[in-house]
Amino acid sequence: MAVRSVNELVKMGFEGIEKEILECTDCQLHETVTNKVISKGSRNPQVVFIGEAPGRKEDETGVPFCGRAGKNLDDIIEYMGLSDYGYAVINAVKCRPPDNRNPLKSEIKACKPFLEAQIELLDPEVIILLGNTAEKAFCDGKKLEWGVPEYVDGKYTLLKIYHPAALIYQRSRIGEQKDLIDSNRHLWK
Ligand code: SF4
Repeated sequence: MAVRSVNELVKMGFEGIEKEILECTDCQLHETVTNKVISKGSRNPQVVFIGEAPGRKEDETGVPFCGRAGKNLDDIIEYMGLSDYGYAVINAVKCRPPDNRNPLKSEIKACKPFLEAQIELLDPEVIILLGNTAEKAFCDGKKLEWGVPEYVDGKYTLLKIYHPAALIYQRSRIGEQKDLIDSNRHLWK
């Protein structure tokens, strides 16, 4: 089944998109997935976080960022001072790549209409890209500086920060991440 266009998906609303994702077989990742991981958080958020792809724990549960990296993301959200209603979390790719490899270009491309439609419906003021893969998936080759916001098309502000999983093994980045957040607080306050 070919993924529908972004406009068609947007017209279907959140429930329609969820159904389309659950039924999607548009890339090879559907062959090995246990649970597709669609989103969590508010449907009217000020901030949307875009991650890369589900990991093992997310694949088991169907919930984004529920493992160790998820704990780090929760800490980031708390440090930012966002309420439960203020944010949503989605991934660039909805099915787990085997052995936690990076998603392939073709997989990111196949899943992109879902990502774009979700962003369109969530309509955030700020989109936070969690690491380089999220940037590649969402920005079509455009490179952002870490922690340097960019206002896009009069619609939203893009900001790239470190992926929460990177903070597990590179503890020094926790302080750097806080600095990136501190210098951008005006975006969501
Ligand atoms: S990763 Fe996306 S495009 Fe690929 S099968 Fe899963 S939902 Fe479909």
